Amino acid sequence: MVRTEFKCAELKAKWEHLCSRVLEECAIPPAYRIVCYFDDESVCVEPSERGLFVPDIGKSANRVCWPVYVKKYLSDDAGFLDALIYVPGYACCADDEGLFVMALAHELRHLVQWAAAAEVFSNNKKIERLRPTVLARKWDLPIERDAMISSKRVAAAIRGLDVVNGWAWTRINSGDSQSMPFWEFFQSISPYEHYDWVGETNFLIDRCFSSPRQ
Ligand SMILES: [Zn+2]
Repeated sequence: MVRTEFKCAELKAKWEHLCSRVLEECAIPPAYRIVCYFDDESVCVEPSERGLFVPDIGKSANRVCWPVYVKKYLSDDAGFLDALIYVPGYACCADDEGLFVMALAHELRHLVQWAAAAEVFSNNKKIERLRPTVLARKWDLPIERDAMISSKRVAAAIRGLDVVNGWAWTRINSGDSQSMPFWEFFQSISPYEHYDWVGETNFLIDRCFSSPRQ
């Protein structure tokens, strides 16, 4: 069950319909109890992060940066929840439906990955700690690449692939040199490619953490 919470009425009026469309496309396992929180501010995230998937509710409560209105979903009292998806103002406040759809679909894909294979999901965090030695870019991590492909597929199903590539081109041409490599990569991927994120994670774990053969 996915519950959506909007910080204010304006956000709800602006995004509720599109949010429902994204949820329809994402095939969330029904047994999981999730809150998607949409904020008009951006807390606990870098501008390069357009959302957060928080699976470990108890530990996440220790993140002091969360404001009270988000923390209440992360406290022990809310132990009935499995995970929180947080979509910050970076993705909600602009009149940019591309940013919104892709941020939400990306985090929902992390939920699907975690529900399917929690250990493999968390092994990506181990690999991430080896950046940039092993992987140059964050989106080379298997869970990130898979989430990018999936978010592009969801966006294409809702608005059509030409529109989605147009969103990416707008970002590429915006002159923001920090985010440009991300959008260039996003523009280059096919939303219909089969990507084995579990196999790729296991391959990287073997390569990085297996002891060398004698
Ligand atoms: Zn991600």
